[in-house]
Amino acid sequence: MGLFDRWFSGDNKEALDKGLEKSKQGFFSKVAVAVAGKKTIDADVLDELEEVLISSDVGVHTTLKIIERLEARVKSNPYLGTDQLNSLLKEEISSLLITKNPASDSETVDGKLQVILVVGVNGVGKTTTIGKLAKRWSQEGKKVMLAAADTFRAAAVDQLEVWSDRANVPLVKLAANTDPAAVAYEAINRAVAAQVDVLLIDTAGRLHNKINLMNELSKIKRVLSKVVADAPHEVMLVIDGSTGQNAFEQAKQFSAATEVTSLAVTKLDGTAKGGVVLGISDQFNIPVRYIGVGEGIEDLQPFDAKRFIETFFEVKS
Ligand code: GDP
Ligand code: MG
Repeated sequence: MGLFDRWFSGDNKEALDKGLEKSKQGFFSKVAVAVAGKKTIDADVLDELEEVLISSDVGVHTTLKIIERLEARVKSNPYLGTDQLNSLLKEEISSLLITKNPASDSETVDGKLQVILVVGVNGVGKTTTIGKLAKRWSQEGKKVMLAAADTFRAAAVDQLEVWSDRANVPLVKLAANTDPAAVAYEAINRAVAAQVDVLLIDTAGRLHNKINLMNELSKIKRVLSKVVADAPHEVMLVIDGSTGQNAFEQAKQFSAATEVTSLAVTKLDGTAKGGVVLGISDQFNIPVRYIGVGEGIEDLQPFDAKRFIETFFEVKS
């Protein structure tokens, strides 16, 4: 049994159920309205469904893809009933989501330092996600180190320090207002010396303009690669799943500024905007690796597309 499976056993299923509850309710009640009084899936139903998907924050690009696929199926079978709509949707959505998010069975590569640069705008949950990952991985017996490269606010360093204490992993910090790249450089050197398995680097979420952002991230990446040629191994963009369209905008800006290799979508608990998970991974071709379903240290789940779809379409008795 891989790390992946173990994380998903037990209480995590409940957290996922809870995390998707509002998105589910919102989505299926809208679908029900869209098909009310209709027997077959006709052009009107598809039009309404298009609205439902867009208003569920799936995004225009992905919505059109899903509608086109459904149109093709209806064309070859004009008598498809609206009672089959949910299962058709499930099939199309899961084929999209699973293609873009193939299951991976290992979280980190054993025996080799993995450097993960965590980026995203202020308030999305970067520091919290780092804390949760640190706890998970150190519990799994990995040697984890954190780097406080969000040096613009003293409070940001303090906040990461609180998480490093909770997770019981070391933190690398320098004086306030130090160049973030200097922190990254110091941290990777210490990580190498201490034979750390995973170094998680917290960054500032300023997004004044693309050039600044690009320059800052490039500089951090450059100093990292001076010490370990293929570092950073992952650039994880954290987005707040409850912000819907805004999250798409952030994914666009960050992937224009640097090569984002994975996503963590936070705050899925208590939002009806779970559709962003589907839209963003499809539109930007970036796999979702984690989802945040609460503020606690345990409230982070590796993203499993199959499981996500199953839970979403599961009918509660
Ligand atoms: P950062 O500015 O990107 O580092 O964001 P923080 O990690 O400081 O998080 C901002 C706020 O979002 C904090 O109050 C966190 O507790 C909260 N938060 C982060 N992840 C989640 C999540 O998955 N669910 C909920 N409900 N809150 C979260
Ligand atoms: Mg932070």
